[in-house]
Amino acid sequence: MEDRISPYHINIWYVVLAVVAALLLHDGWLARRDVRTVPYSEFETLLEHGSLSEVDLQGDTTIRARLKKPAQGARYIETVKMDPTFAAKLQKAGVRYQAEPENTFFRNILLWTLPVLIMIGVWLFIAKRFSARLQGGVMAIGKSKAKIYVESDTKVKFSDVAGIDEAKAELQEIVDFLKNPNKFHRLGGRMPKGVLLVGPPGTGKTLIAKAVAGEAEVPFFSSNGAEFVEMFVGVGAARVRDLFEQAKRRAPCIIFIDELDALGRARLVAVGPGVNDEKEQTLNQLLAELDGFDSASGIILLAATNRPEIIDPALLRSGRFDRQVVIDRPDKAGRLAILELHSKKIKMAPHLDLSHVAALTPGLTGADLANIVNEAALIAVRRESDSVNEGDFTEAVERLTAGLEKKGRLISPFEKKIVAYHEIGHVIAAIATGNIEQIHKVSIIPRGVGAIGYTMQRPSEERFLMTDDELKKKMIVLLGGRAAEQLEFGHFSTGAADDIDKATDIAWNAVTKYGMSASVGNIVYDTRRPTFLGYEQTPFQTRTYSDETANKIDAAVADMVATAMQRASEILTKNKSTLEEAAKLLLKRETLTETDLKPFVAKIL
Ligand code: ADP
Ligand code: MG
Ligand code: ZN
Repeated sequence: MEDRISPYHINIWYVVLAVVAALLLHDGWLARRDVRTVPYSEFETLLEHGSLSEVDLQGDTTIRARLKKPAQGARYIETVKMDPTFAAKLQKAGVRYQAEPENTFFRNILLWTLPVLIMIGVWLFIAKRFSARLQGGVMAIGKSKAKIYVESDTKVKFSDVAGIDEAKAELQEIVDFLKNPNKFHRLGGRMPKGVLLVGPPGTGKTLIAKAVAGEAEVPFFSSNGAEFVEMFVGVGAARVRDLFEQAKRRAPCIIFIDELDALGRARLVAVGPGVNDEKEQTLNQLLAELDGFDSASGIILLAATNRPEIIDPALLRSGRFDRQVVIDRPDKAGRLAILELHSKKIKMAPHLDLSHVAALTPGLTGADLANIVNEAALIAVRRESDSVNEGDFTEAVERLTAGLEKKGRLISPFEKKIVAYHEIGHVIAAIATGNIEQIHKVSIIPRGVGAIGYTMQRPSEERFLMTDDELKKKMIVLLGGRAAEQLEFGHFSTGAADDIDKATDIAWNAVTKYGMSASVGNIVYDTRRPTFLGYEQTPFQTRTYSDETANKIDAAVADMVATAMQRASEILTKNKSTLEEAAKLLLKRETLTETDLKPFVAKIL
């Protein structure tokens, strides 16, 4: 809106000029009238001599009097009033005295012009508002309020991001593409249009998105998903359109939408008519924009979220955000790299070993670690030291983790140990049941949202059919974690809840759907397992079988799970020494890859 100069702007000065001119004329006219200004002493004399016929008091100070006989070509005299006692004294002394009339010219100008100026202002304001409304009101709102930040040079490079090398490697391809879109185009390669960065808060998603733009040396358009959520239908959609329009003009470039979940939240069942209209429109506009451009145009859309599960599936379909890059909490090596990067900015004591700090901070993110470095520097300053030593770091870690521990963000050493044995339990069960090739990576750092620790199983091939033997083995692997915990610590922890849930699911389906239990037989009981809150999905389902059958099903399921659990326990008991050895290595390194696990395979009995 700023670029439009108001056509009324210049007129104000004409008005001011006119007013000034009028005042000048008025003064001149006064001067030409037959009024003579006289000293106050003369006025007093004339008064005493009875030469005045009428006296006018003008305001507080000016006296105008009519002369009985016009003298010196004037019928009136004008003078400025003085303090009477002072005047009397002067009179007695025979002095000629007078007061200067106060100059009211500028005050008059103000008095005359101010109201006029205010009125003009109000009128201009209204006129401006009105014309804006006429020229496409919604677009104007969309344009003026959307907080789209454009940075031609983000000044962030991949070297400013540490500890998340896998994500970097995945995004390198995007950088290459943006640097040279034609090369990719010529070979017929199709770039992903949208890449969704998924990971917990503070892991460096925003940072790495900027780094992609910085490396590729392209403009970076960024906005926050929440900026598009508006009260009025159509406003959010207009902003989305605006964002893409601006970006298209500067391709190749990157559009980054932070917190995509705010905008791309899965459509809910409407609570009332019109409740979701605005969100729907905004989301639809985003989908339309995504479909409307081709990666050949040189625009790459990046988005970040820490809640991928609530994002509307339509956004994740192929041709939209069809690539996801997971940005995890860093493991020990990653944390060390991040600490080293951030401590470049501070002056450190010689021989300071940051790996100790890294060892103290499992579960913390890049943002937490950046904070720790900063806090350590502050502590050193308070201590009036000229460099930061290890004690400062330890204190900083203690300070920051006290709060984080309560929120469950920092993993305590004991938890870490339980998780390590649990995860290795899965691995050993997998090796023993012949599923080793499926283990991709084991970690005790919380991944994504929720579960602590994870063993990433890679599906070796797309499976549509599984034999009952395979299902049983899968259950053994799932329960291996829990079996290892029991073997090592003599008790269970809540960390296995998800595993048990999955194992029970498999058993339930095997019995009621696949007819894999001899006692229940080959009959499909189309039913859903009772869950915590009634039944899954269909709350009003009625059971179509007898209590006796129900008992049989329950017994068969329980038996299947118990058998798998027993088998898992046997495997782990036999391999206790390997379990301990591997768990210790995992505790030390926090993540183990396929290669790290290779040496253990041969040892499994
Ligand atoms: P997110 O967007 O995932 O919530 P940010 O990118 O906003 O996290 O990270 C916040 C800050 O934390 C960054 O500006 C940076 O200083 C620091 N940081 C986070 N992750 C990293 C990392 N991997 N390497 C270096 N610094 C990091
Ligand atoms: Mg962010
Ligand atoms: Zn588990």
